[in-house]
This record gives sequence, structure tokens and C-alpha cells, in this order.
Amino acid sequence: MTKRILKITAVLTLLCLSAALLAACTGGKPQPSAGQKPLIVTTTDALYEITRDLAGGLAEVSCLIPPGIEAHDYEPTPGDVERVRTASLVIRNGLGMDDWLDKITGATGGTVVLATQGLTPIVTPEGATDPHIWMSPKSAIGVCENVRDALLAFFDGAAGAISTVTENAAELISLIEGVSAQYSERLGEFGVDTIVTSHDAFGYVARDYGIRQVPIENIYAEGEPSARQMAELIDFVIANNVKVILSEFTFSSAVADTLARETGAEVRTVYTMEAAEDNMSYVTRLLGNLNAMCG
Ligand SMILES: [Zn+2]
Repeated sequence: MTKRILKITAVLTLLCLSAALLAACTGGKPQPSAGQKPLIVTTTDALYEITRDLAGGLAEVSCLIPPGIEAHDYEPTPGDVERVRTASLVIRNGLGMDDWLDKITGATGGTVVLATQGLTPIVTPEGATDPHIWMSPKSAIGVCENVRDALLAFFDGAAGAISTVTENAAELISLIEGVSAQYSERLGEFGVDTIVTSHDAFGYVARDYGIRQVPIENIYAEGEPSARQMAELIDFVIANNVKVILSEFTFSSAVADTLARETGAEVRTVYTMEAAEDNMSYVTRLLGNLNAMCG
């Protein structure tokens, strides 16, 4: 990983977590008092936005991964332990994106839901599961349906809640279906068949829209290229006439800049939605990524 922002040492975190977990073990299942909204926590920012939009004010929704963080290296803080402990519902991505949550969910009295349940994951040739399912609008529809079903179960029978969640879900799914149609149309129209990305975050976009992704770093945002790998990437970009290098908002563009300089390609910013980026909404970032790939 080229640049890590706000890295907390593992030793300090573990010490803090132990103290917080001990404190947490004395409590029972969290029950919001009268008039207080239940707390729902999510891991990634994409899940936060989907959940917040679907819950539509029925709950307080909170994202564990803070803005500007390299999410694959995330270490939960004592504050996260407290939020998970008091949460009524915890919504996680799974697929290896938020394994760190396992350290702290023992303290929660709430229900833990997997937003990617039943969806078909990508497994790399090395046997690793690709977590970036929300990056593809087509796959994200399944995530929205899972979050909707989790909320419907959570608000079971509550007056008005079922129609609110159902209507909000229909609206968001319809919006993302429209974005998915734009992906199919514009990637075809612009003849995009190969994309070069900072890290392996576009695997589901590649699978769902029939293009090829060549990542500089792997699915965990690890593996800065050696001089030999960089030379191979330069040859690849030139040989395949790749015009755009996609560089992530929260990621140093140094390698992408070098690649662009050596090949005449242009660097464009894309968003991973793992953490909040520049106050942009999830759907805006999906469209931003499409714009970066096309034209
Ligand atoms: Zn990633």
C-alpha cells in the first residue's frame, strides 16, 4: 500500500479493544429507550449509504470505516467497539472486506447481517475472494435487496416501517438499475474493453459488463509494482492502446502518474466507496467511475 492515512498500531488497538470488550461483556442486548431510534452500524461507506437510504430516518445509521481510510488495513477502535455493542443491527459486507469486525461482534447484542448473502462472489485464480461487489451497479442490486430484507425483518410489523423500507428500496434499486443500463450502454459505445486500475477493485465491473481489468495492486491494495512489473505494465498499456489509468481518490497517484507519463495515457480519479470520499453519494460515485472509464 503506497499511502496509509491514520494507521493505528496493532498493539495499542488490541490493548484498547480488550478493555472495551471487558466493559462491553457486562451489558445485555441494547434496547433503545422510548422515542430513541435504533442504531444500525455498517462497515463500508457503500453499505452505510444503502442502509441509510433504505431506513429513511427510521434508524440512526453509522459507518464504522471513517473517511479517508485505506479500508483493507482497517483496525477497529474502542469507539467502534462501543458502537457495535450498542447497535441493534450490524450490516457487514463479508467476502474478506471486514474480517476485522469478527474481533468485536462478540460484544453486540444486535443481529449481524451479511449484505452479500447468496450473491455469487469472484474467486481469484490464487483462491482469494474479491470483496468489491458494490463497485458494480449490477451486483449492487443484490446487495440492496439483502439490506432491504434485513431491514424488513428488523422492523418486523412496526407501523409504517415496512412500507417506508419497501418504497425506499424500490426507488434506490430503480436508480441503480438505470446506472447499470448506462454502464452497459456507454462502455460499449466508447469501446472500453480494458481498464488499468490502482488496485483490484473493479473485478465485479469487469465481470458484469464484459471488460478486462488490469490492476496495479491486488484486491487487498497490496503489492506496489517492482521495476520489472512496472516495465511490463508500461508495455501492456502501450500494446493495448489503454488511454486512461484509473487512480483512486484515497490512494496515492504516484504509480499511476509514472505509468501515464511513460505511456501518454491520462490519469483519472475513481472512487472505491470503501470509505466516504469527498462527500459524494454512492450513486454519484458509481457514475463518476463510469465517466472516468469512458470518453
Ligand atoms: Zn479495495
